[in-house]
Amino acid sequence: LLTVDKLNKSYGQLAVLKNVSFSLRRGERIALIGPSGSGKSTCLRAINFLDPPTSGEIRIDGRLIGQQPNGRRMTDAQLAPQRADIGMVFQHFHLWPHLNVRANVALQPRKVRGLPAAAATELAEELLAKVHLGHKAGEMPSRLSGGQQQRVAIARALAQRPKLLLFDEPTSALDPELVGEVLNVIKELASEGRSMVLVTHEIAFAREVADRILFMDGGRIVEEGPARRILDRPQEPRLRQFLSSLS
Ligand code: ATP
Ligand code: MG
Repeated sequence: LLTVDKLNKSYGQLAVLKNVSFSLRRGERIALIGPSGSGKSTCLRAINFLDPPTSGEIRIDGRLIGQQPNGRRMTDAQLAPQRADIGMVFQHFHLWPHLNVRANVALQPRKVRGLPAAAATELAEELLAKVHLGHKAGEMPSRLSGGQQQRVAIARALAQRPKLLLFDEPTSALDPELVGEVLNVIKELASEGRSMVLVTHEIAFAREVADRILFMDGGRIVEEGPARRILDRPQEPRLRQFLSSLS
């Protein structure tokens, strides 16, 4: 489904991603772990061209993202339908504060996919029910808890009908008692066979949900493998050190 090939990203002199390559099969779930500043968020943002890579290729179902066949960068208008294939959920939820929950979820289907208002509303309500927030559709985001806001953000990402979901530390801004409800929704999506890349510090969760784990350090993928193997028998000293620093 997704192939990332020799991705490099620099901010001025600072090389943040160094030859990052990996692929993800349909239905596969990858967790991306690593120390702060190792490039995890930059990698996710590069995948959907929120923050275009300096070099390298990203393909979804073989289709090159963000680049025209002549190698030129796509315009935002050209990128929009490609980005719709990739749903992204951030640490901070970034809901539209002036729109109610239902309108937040219905916005992309209306604006980008051109769904009629009634159909977009129906879709929004269906997705809100899926994240167990059917009863909050008419509320404004500011009246919801952080965990509820994040579940709205997940419903909003699903409204794009994405092929791939990217989560960037979706629970790290939440009070501890709200983490579980968000992780549960992500687990439900995983059990439906959705394809996802998940940046997380929740190692127990990564073990439970991810098929494969990539460990990133200093802008490189230093070690990767099946989740159990990575967590129970880490090889690289840097990975061992990272895992022991978490426990
Ligand atoms: P964390 O676990 O803290 O979220 P991360 O692994 O997601 O860390 P990134 O946010 O990808 O790390 O950052 C990687 C490096 O890139 C850091 O050194 C950071 O300072 C740098 N960086 C990120 N964004 C920018 C930017 N817009 N301009 C300059 N440097 C940046
Ligand atoms: Mg980050």
